[in-house]
Amino acid sequence: MLRVEKILISSEEIQEKVQELGDRITEDYRGERPLLIGILRGAVVVLSDLMRCIELPCEIDFMDISSYGSGSTSSGVVRIMKDLEEDITGRHVVVVEDIVDSGLTLSYLKRSLLARNPASLEICSLLSKPSRRKVELDVKYLGFEIPDEFVVGYGLDYAGSHRNLPDIRIVNPGE
Ligand code: 5GP
Repeated sequence: MLRVEKILISSEEIQEKVQELGDRITEDYRGERPLLIGILRGAVVVLSDLMRCIELPCEIDFMDISSYGSGSTSSGVVRIMKDLEEDITGRHVVVVEDIVDSGLTLSYLKRSLLARNPASLEICSLLSKPSRRKVELDVKYLGFEIPDEFVVGYGLDYAGSHRNLPDIRIVNPGE
C-alpha cells in the first residue's frame, strides 16, 4: 500500500512559481520564438501551465525517453522512445522537466540535443534534488529545491498514478 503523505508544495505555491518562471522566460526570449520540449510523461502538467505564462509566440514538442537502469536508479543512458517532430536546428530550445534527481538523464539528453545544433538550449525543471546530483547540470529555470524524498503529484507519478494531484506530496512506499 502506498501512503501519500503530507503536502510538500501546495498548488498555490506551484502556480506562483510557474508564473515566475514564465515571466523570466518571456523576458529572456523577447523577440524570439522559443520551442518548449516537454519530457513525457511527467512534464506534461508543468509544460501546460508554463506555456500559458509565457507572453511570446512559442511552440511545444515532446520527447519520450526511458532510462536504462534498475528500479529507481537512473544509469544515465537514455533510449529515445518518441523523438521530436520538430527540427531544432537554429531554434531556441527550452527543455521542460518535472524533476532533476541525479541529473544523468538530462545531461545525456542535453548532449544528444546539442548535437542537432539548436541556436540555444536551456533547462527548466519544476523540482530538483541537489543532494542526489551525480553530474553537474545547469538548470537555468528552476522552481524548487527539495530534500531527498520521493514525491508525487503535479505530473509526477508512483507506478503510473497520482499524476493528477494538484500539489506535490511526499510518499512512503510499502507502508
Ligand atoms: P535523473 O536522471 O535526474 O536521476 O532522473 C530524473 C527522473 O527520475 C525524473 O524525470 C523522474 O522520472 C524520476 N524521479 C526522480 N525523483 C523522483 C521523485 O521524487 N518522484 C517521481 N515521481 N519521479 C522521480
